[in-house]
Amino acid sequence: MDEMQQEFLDIVTQVRAHLEYQRALGMSVVETVAVSPSTMAAPPAIKPTAKVRVEPETKKPAAAIAGGLAAVRDELGDCTRCKLCKGRKTIVFGEGDPDAVLVFVGEGPGQEEDQQGRPFVGAAGQLLTDIIVKGMKLNREDVYICNIVKCRPPDNRNPEPDEIEACEPFLIKQLQAIRPRVIVALGNIAVKTLLKTKEGITKLRGTWRTYQGIPLMPTFHPAYLLRNPSDKKLVWEDIRKVLAEMEKAKKG
Ligand code: URA
Repeated sequence: MDEMQQEFLDIVTQVRAHLEYQRALGMSVVETVAVSPSTMAAPPAIKPTAKVRVEPETKKPAAAIAGGLAAVRDELGDCTRCKLCKGRKTIVFGEGDPDAVLVFVGEGPGQEEDQQGRPFVGAAGQLLTDIIVKGMKLNREDVYICNIVKCRPPDNRNPEPDEIEACEPFLIKQLQAIRPRVIVALGNIAVKTLLKTKEGITKLRGTWRTYQGIPLMPTFHPAYLLRNPSDKKLVWEDIRKVLAEMEKAKKG
């Protein structure tokens, strides 16, 4: 595939993800634009069919953001929307700063997370905590950590498409409430779900993508790093890019 084809594919992927995002937020109508055929080849005179009100980008107060997250948690309730509810002990919603600049998205809770009701608290979680605290020199409480699915898949298998589909609207709303400046997608399931791509993490890691206009860095999952410690240096390269982006966000 050449560069233009890849670019086109990226645009299609982004548009599709955006439409799914709108649907998850309860939008059933998408505003359209009319393009007159006579102008299609020349300057693209696009006439909006409806007035679009552009809100200035203001930062929401932290309490409002926390309230938004609490509303998402309330809506999730004692969820039975997919079969994962049968084997779980606890719903692992996510934790951290509701106003975080940086969000990590993993795959789904493991046994320890299911027991404690907190994301990334087992062995892979310890490694993620080390990346945040020792590597990035941040407090774990200053970032937000969540997963694609909020209930533990049996025997730590990958979440299945119907389970991801049932849970995704809640992740979308969490990210919408937090509006972080950077997202780190940990591993294949997170990257494929967020970016709606079939490409794997080995190909995607280390290169910036966007999710709803937010820079997204795909990198290896900490559980993978526990099995392949020699790849930690690649993750560190990715994390350095994340730190640089966060620095930029601070200034901008
Ligand atoms: N792996 C994940 O993807 N998420 C967790 O919360 C724990 C392990």
